[in-house]
Amino acid sequence: MTHSPRWPPGTPVRTRRRSVERTLAGRLEAALARPAAQQPHWPDPDRARAVVRELAAAEPLVTPAETRRLLDRLGAVARGEALLLQSGDCAETFADTTEPHLRANLGVLRRMALVLTHAAGLPVVTVARAAGQYAKPRSAAVDADGLPVYRGDIINSGKPDRAARTPDPERMARAYHHAREAMAVVRRLACGELADAQALHEENRRFVSTAPGGRRHTARVAEIGRGLRFMTGVGALAPRLGEIWTSHEALLLDYERTLLWIDTEGPEPGLSSGLAHFLWIGERTREPDGAHIAFAELLANPIGVKIGPRTTPEQAVEYVRRLDPHAVPGRLTLISRMGHDRVREVLPPIVEKVTASGRQVIWQCDPMHGNSRTTETGHKTRRYEDILDEITGFLEVHRALGTHPGGLHLEATGEDVTECTGGAGGPSEDDLPARYRTACDPRLNAEQSMGLALTVAELFAAGTARSTEARR
Ligand code: PEP
Ligand code: MN
Repeated sequence: MTHSPRWPPGTPVRTRRRSVERTLAGRLEAALARPAAQQPHWPDPDRARAVVRELAAAEPLVTPAETRRLLDRLGAVARGEALLLQSGDCAETFADTTEPHLRANLGVLRRMALVLTHAAGLPVVTVARAAGQYAKPRSAAVDADGLPVYRGDIINSGKPDRAARTPDPERMARAYHHAREAMAVVRRLACGELADAQALHEENRRFVSTAPGGRRHTARVAEIGRGLRFMTGVGALAPRLGEIWTSHEALLLDYERTLLWIDTEGPEPGLSSGLAHFLWIGERTREPDGAHIAFAELLANPIGVKIGPRTTPEQAVEYVRRLDPHAVPGRLTLISRMGHDRVREVLPPIVEKVTASGRQVIWQCDPMHGNSRTTETGHKTRRYEDILDEITGFLEVHRALGTHPGGLHLEATGEDVTECTGGAGGPSEDDLPARYRTACDPRLNAEQSMGLALTVAELFAAGTARSTEARR
């Protein structure tokens, strides 16, 4: 296999596959020439081009071999033999590129995965929104003060002044260096302390014995403990969890176009991102004729597409046809984010139409983005109860249709923030200002995340989702 990290064209090409390179180069330029929503206007476009050139020559963060391995794992999810759990910050910040912050977020991801593995009796593929989740789509170009809106640390600063909010292409280079540091931490934790099932279980045991509402889940956690003791008792090696994969929204195309490998292993040659294993296209940039979907078509990585309540079944089938032309299970994840009050009505015709097309996609529930609201004090928040209700509706829909509810996509942190309301002993609206720290959307805190995972475990274990029970 020949890979070339020297990309895009214009940089030296060290491969014998020049014609493949030329074809892909042409297709990439054509994709990027399409209209692209949500891109910054760099005040100095020459400087931006120079940064893109510099980044193109940098060291990739992930390899095509790793990304293929993830594709393989996701194939099992698509076939109903595994689950996908994806979680992390809405917006990573440069300031939070720290070991404690990543340890907290990845730790709660792994603890949730342990619980879901037990409840569903299936392996859980853990994917972090980390090491590159720096660009944010925004619904308005200016904020409440009339300043250019914050678009994520990779583009501008959240500080409320005009100079700080001006898009700065040097931030792409800084983002790469932060992603690189974060990636090293992810790798270290994934095969170190966050691989140790027994240690994760001990944290869960402390949670159920000390957290409000934890006692309700004592029996399940005790059962997991017995399972672990059984495995070590019969002489299995201490149970270890697998990889932690990285992901972010492929939003800022000047960044995404850098560090592309050529991957000739798949059904047709493609570009494998060297920036993350899994990339998704957001609700605001999924225009079928736009640059983002055309870019995703060229990628060899597993791809997600967010689908909101305005998505038609026909559009969903078009995403499947365009983004999974070779019918590779695990290649495409449709991430529904319908809102708890719409999911039961909007999702079924989409699932039916895609199923009728004969393709196996991963159905993933994002119960966060359809349930955002703003309080009277101006805090963007989400109710734990709405989040749980959307997951419940998602499970009901898939049970009724006989399809596999393959995954969850959460915005959650292991830190003790007050951003979402509710859950057992969770913050009220009045509590939100105490530790409201997110750079963008509200995240579940550690207790809310574990409460949610354990309650979703009940729904899985019960075999039928009972919405009345879940809404309690
Ligand atoms: C996000 O995942 O942070 C996001 C912006 O989601 P969506 O595209 O679904 O609104
Ligand atoms: Mn978000």
